[in-house]
Amino acid sequence: MAKLLMGKEVSARIKAELKAEVEELKKQGINPGLAVIIVGEDPASQVYVRNKELACEACGIYSEKYALPEETTQEELLKLIDTLNKKESISGILVQLPVPKHIDEKTIINAIDPKKDVDAFHPVNVGKIMVGNYDFVPCTPAGVMELIKESGIDVCGKECVIVGRSNIVGKPQAMLLLHQNGTVTICHSKTKNLKEKTKNADILVAAVGIPNFITGDMIKEGAVVIDVGINRLENKKLCGDVEFESAEKVAGAITPVPGGVGPMTIAMLMKNTVKAAVVNQSK
Ligand code: NAD
Repeated sequence: MAKLLMGKEVSARIKAELKAEVEELKKQGINPGLAVIIVGEDPASQVYVRNKELACEACGIYSEKYALPEETTQEELLKLIDTLNKKESISGILVQLPVPKHIDEKTIINAIDPKKDVDAFHPVNVGKIMVGNYDFVPCTPAGVMELIKESGIDVCGKECVIVGRSNIVGKPQAMLLLHQNGTVTICHSKTKNLKEKTKNADILVAAVGIPNFITGDMIKEGAVVIDVGINRLENKKLCGDVEFESAEKVAGAITPVPGGVGPMTIAMLMKNTVKAAVVNQSK
């Protein structure tokens, strides 16, 4: 039976550590603050934003929430970002994605001051991750790295296979694994003989967005399996990209969904917000 990598527990530990750190920083006059902007009524996004607010409370981080109507124009959103870029009490800015179709996501990301870009989506921060000299690590891949650490496996020299090549998960995940000397393969929708690749993985990260896509027969005996996927089924239940039942029989360690990568993403966002406050203070 595979070891369960409980993100929920690890994230609670990280948040408790951050709370103590924030208390110390406040004594030095450094007050981390996060602004979260949400445009429209997407129910999943509403839940994510609420969880981010709660995490701020748990860590003693000041937060501001801007819930804007669906019909908000790109100019209005850019104006708000500009105000927050200049606002001293705000060290981190996050625009919950996706934004409505009439707003260009890239333009929005580019407008956030890289020093306050706690999602690490701005091209400046993406470039810094590429060269291995960065302040902010994108939250989901960073959370995955923490869970891999929790599994006890040393990434150095391991076959790491990522299924998914998105800018927010797959690509930065590859960089982080590479920085720890993993041998990285990125698979995607055009990859041929996928099973051959996944079966070779000592560390397998699934970020596909298709329920139960990775099955037990695609996994190497004893592998660490990290399921980034969050999919809502017709019966309203959440499930990952990995078919948990068959996978846990083969894997050495595996993340559940929910309670695996999801809570880690938020803990890493808190970490980046605290870091932003420190970094911005010293610049
Ligand atoms: P995305 O849709 O941007 O990317 C999906 C990737 O899967 C693409 O790169 C595509 O090439 C690949 N893919 C699609 N079909 C494939 C196939 N048949 N074979 C191999 N590869 C295939 O998705 P994303 O934003 O990277 O998110 C992936 C999943 O992770 C989603 O379920 C999302 O909800 C979840 N997610 C979770 C968190 C978290 O905090 N846990 C954060 C971000 C995303």
